Amino acid sequence: MPKGIYLHLPRTTAVREQISQTMKRKGLKPTVRCLNPPHPKGRIVSQELRDRIAETLRGRKRPEMTGEKNPNWKGGRAILDFPRRCPQYKTWRKAVLDRDNWTCRQCGFKGNKWPEIQAHHVLRFSIYKESRYDVNCGLTLCQTCHKKIHAKVKK
Ligand SMILES: [Zn+2]
Ligand SMILES: [Zn+2]
Repeated sequence: MPKGIYLHLPRTTAVREQISQTMKRKGLKPTVRCLNPPHPKGRIVSQELRDRIAETLRGRKRPEMTGEKNPNWKGGRAILDFPRRCPQYKTWRKAVLDRDNWTCRQCGFKGNKWPEIQAHHVLRFSIYKESRYDVNCGLTLCQTCHKKIHAKVKK
């Protein structure tokens, strides 16, 4: 027989019987004891009050889920998942473009804004974490050459 089976039987009839015997002996009236007494010492409440408490609990609204409790919360992982959004990336990107004078290293096209001119990371961002913001790992490329390079890299 599995060991934990008795854990699912909180109060056996025998235990309940014992309690009621004790109460009778002490001259207590067989009133219903609140299972989760709001008072630390616990107190004996009438069936009427018990029903009222149950009613209150039923009508209680679930607290709004916000912040970390919200299943949609992405937490601090957002920056890791989208490194392109973080200020470090922006600084790196500008440093690469400035070094190459906003000129495509592949075809020589000179641009002055994204997306016509882009900074390509020579090493895979996700793998080479430590060189993510190394300007030496950046390459200025125009949109067309950048697309070509990625088409090659992915295959
Ligand atoms: Zn790239
Ligand atoms: Zn180009």
